[in-house]
Amino acid sequence: MKKLALHWKILLGMVLGVLVGIIFSNFENGRELIQDWVKPFGKIFINSLKLIAVPLILASLIKGVSDLKDISKLSKMGGRTIAIYILTTVLAVSIGLGLVNIIKPGNSITEKTRTELVNNYSKNTQKYKEAAVNQKQNGPLQALIDLVPDNIIHASGNNRNMLQVIFFAIFFGIGLILIPEEKSKPVKDFFDGFNEVILKMIDLIMLAAPYGVFALLAALVVESPSIDLFKALAWYAFTVLLGLVLMIVLYTFFVMIFTKKSPSFFMKGISPAQLLAFSTSSSAATLPVTMERVSEHLGVDEEVSSFVLPIGATINMDGTSLYQAVAAVFIAQAFGMDLTLGTQLGIIATATLASIGSAAVPGAGMVMLVIVLAQAGIPEAGLALIFAIDRPLDMCRTTVNVTGDATVSMLVAKSVGKLGEPHVKEWDDNYEQ
Ligand code: ASP
Repeated sequence: MKKLALHWKILLGMVLGVLVGIIFSNFENGRELIQDWVKPFGKIFINSLKLIAVPLILASLIKGVSDLKDISKLSKMGGRTIAIYILTTVLAVSIGLGLVNIIKPGNSITEKTRTELVNNYSKNTQKYKEAAVNQKQNGPLQALIDLVPDNIIHASGNNRNMLQVIFFAIFFGIGLILIPEEKSKPVKDFFDGFNEVILKMIDLIMLAAPYGVFALLAALVVESPSIDLFKALAWYAFTVLLGLVLMIVLYTFFVMIFTKKSPSFFMKGISPAQLLAFSTSSSAATLPVTMERVSEHLGVDEEVSSFVLPIGATINMDGTSLYQAVAAVFIAQAFGMDLTLGTQLGIIATATLASIGSAAVPGAGMVMLVIVLAQAGIPEAGLALIFAIDRPLDMCRTTVNVTGDATVSMLVAKSVGKLGEPHVKEWDDNYEQ
């Protein structure tokens, strides 16, 4: 298997996983066999990726920020990053709204299917609603309060607190810029070396990626609901997927126009991260690989990638925001509601904010969708309509989330003169492009 490029190996793992899943679904006890003997390897694979997320953010951001040498560069890069992230998110929501209004997938849902879906899935959606209630009870500035940890050990003890770790790392990096060189040098050298170790660990984990995704997909297939439900939701799924594909086309277009890099260069560089995002449904778990691919294979200087990508993984979710817009209007259509222009504009605002607030983990987009629905006055019971098909769509929107982050990191790098040529580390000979 050594000669095959990594993305092909991962793809092969995915295809075999799906096939094995389908075959075992037809056996008595097949499902249990996969759950007991294959699924754990997928879990171990995801855990090993998550394991390095916090140390990676700490080491690479501290190194990245302190390499900037002066704070004005940081605020310039920060401003551009946030501005482009918001622009791409608004673009994604608008595309989603446009498509769902043209295709009108909700009109194809009959009264009977609607009642069936609501009855079957309303229990499953309860926990999403409860999670959303907790979010809603907070004041308007809660997000700002949450940004600043009161204890860095606690903050780094939970992968959901990634923004707090990012805050600490940037703060620490700024401190490092401001102290005399002879004092900062040993600290910077330490984080530099630390960062290299973590990158090497990512390479090692990636050697196991084809097996990891095999296990993840085999488990997913044996656990998926019946195909009939998917049929009822086919138009809805088609609308979301069309929007997501359009986003990928737009990203490659932006990369081509603004950085003069070809679509195949971009896709080849980022595809292992995309495949991993698809298999894990988590931008956070994919982050280590995204960072490695973007800096080593797309030529984005680490100063930029270490800053733009961890922030992007947590706040920039174009795929999620697009899906939230489509899902909200789809549910309204299925319930026979007509949404005014004002309500739809409101959806642009809430879906943008909701995607920023969504955690980078599987299913997070659905929790925040509850808030978008409530804001637009759409029945929350509608969540049950889309529940059955949420996981496959989550896989696809996570792929777009990760691709969006990579695109923005290239655009920001170009704008600050930090986009160079790919440079796979010379000691990475076991890790082919
Ligand atoms: N799974 C998505 C992510 O991690 C978030 C979501 O849309 O549920 O990027």
